[in-house]
Amino acid sequence: MRKYHIVTFGCQANIADSERVAKILEKLGYAHAGKKEDADILIFNTCSVRQKAEDRVFGLNKKMAQLKAAKPKMKIVLTGCMTHYSEKELRKRLPAIDYFINIKSIKKLPKILKSKLVKHRVLNKNKKHTFSALVPISYGCNNFCSYCIVPYSRGLETSRPAKKIIKEVKSLVSAKGGGVKEIWLLGQTVNSYKSGNINFAKLLKMINNIAGDFWIRFTSPHPKDFLARRSSKQNLGAKAGSDNLIKAMAECKKFAHYVNLPAQSGNNEILKKMNRPYTVRHYKKIIKKLRAAMPDIAISTDVIVGFPGETKKQFQDTIKLFKEIKFDMAFISEYSPRPKTLAAKIYKDNIPPKEKEARKKELNKILIKTALENNKKLVGKTLAVLNNRTAGNKLVKITDKNYNPDEFAKIKITKAGPWRLEGVKI
Ligand code: SF4
Repeated sequence: MRKYHIVTFGCQANIADSERVAKILEKLGYAHAGKKEDADILIFNTCSVRQKAEDRVFGLNKKMAQLKAAKPKMKIVLTGCMTHYSEKELRKRLPAIDYFINIKSIKKLPKILKSKLVKHRVLNKNKKHTFSALVPISYGCNNFCSYCIVPYSRGLETSRPAKKIIKEVKSLVSAKGGGVKEIWLLGQTVNSYKSGNINFAKLLKMINNIAGDFWIRFTSPHPKDFLARRSSKQNLGAKAGSDNLIKAMAECKKFAHYVNLPAQSGNNEILKKMNRPYTVRHYKKIIKKLRAAMPDIAISTDVIVGFPGETKKQFQDTIKLFKEIKFDMAFISEYSPRPKTLAAKIYKDNIPPKEKEARKKELNKILIKTALENNKKLVGKTLAVLNNRTAGNKLVKITDKNYNPDEFAKIKITKAGPWRLEGVKI
């Protein structure tokens, strides 16, 4: 039987895409290969969000050539965000790759393979059950943040019909042999979801009404679609001035109390240069409302340090935001210009790498303190845990031999560190 192996870089959207590619290949009779070396078809699902992510793929050129030398019939495919480069450039820089396929055209994969490879119509019957599933609800993005390549690599936003999403979730949570226990709803700006008269708040409620014992999570929302400003003329997804989404999150019993709300900067001028249409005040208002509605909610954020022209004073505003909000977790990245983006075209990447690194370290120091402070408050509490994660997405070390990570368990928290809790089964 022919085998496939997929190497995935980047975010959960890419992981979901890789799952889609795996399904396509399994329908063609391919079985999963644990190692690259054993694959007849090797897929690299790439990420372009930072230069470093692309460099990792370009750095694999030698390894790819070695794999092909050892197994000349192996086909190597590159998909994902790096297909924003022209095929000519990719062929020059990654000569061992056979096919470059835009993820939007991945449905053509069987056609491409059928013409080149012998098809095996044996379905992989040994598919492992997993406790969690990623469900894309929308693709692409309309926001064109000035630093971001996603609208160029993934195209403009389209929402999947609610009916299809509901059908998929129903089948996932009620699958034979035990359905999944956690559903991640995915979208580049998940809360700008709109299909007919169904917005994200409504969709959340519809999923919450599906029978079964499972958690609902989502990533990533955009602050502008969370709590729309009364004065804004933009279509903000939520009803202007309303906090329908926060209400829905609080009302939905299956919603796991965790949100990653990207702030990107704590300074309004930088937010404007980033083309992020909200203010720090607006961001803080959302957090305040979230915590008022769900006092136990854990909050993380995404931040970019060293955006072109970011002064030390402007960076201090991000420090202030971190100290004020006391995040549980943060994904801090150093700015790197991405081709095609507005920021790369009109701004000079003028913050030295050492300064970017220092700013990242400074934020990390505050984060360690606030995460630890927040986690210490959980010691002595009994929390629901699935796959060693609390509803707030915090990692828990559980030593009990009879702990089954695939099932919900009640865990008493005994110890707290900034990135990990410890607990015992009740
Ligand atoms: S909202 Fe901005 S950062 Fe997020 S995917 Fe869209 S353009 Fe990129």
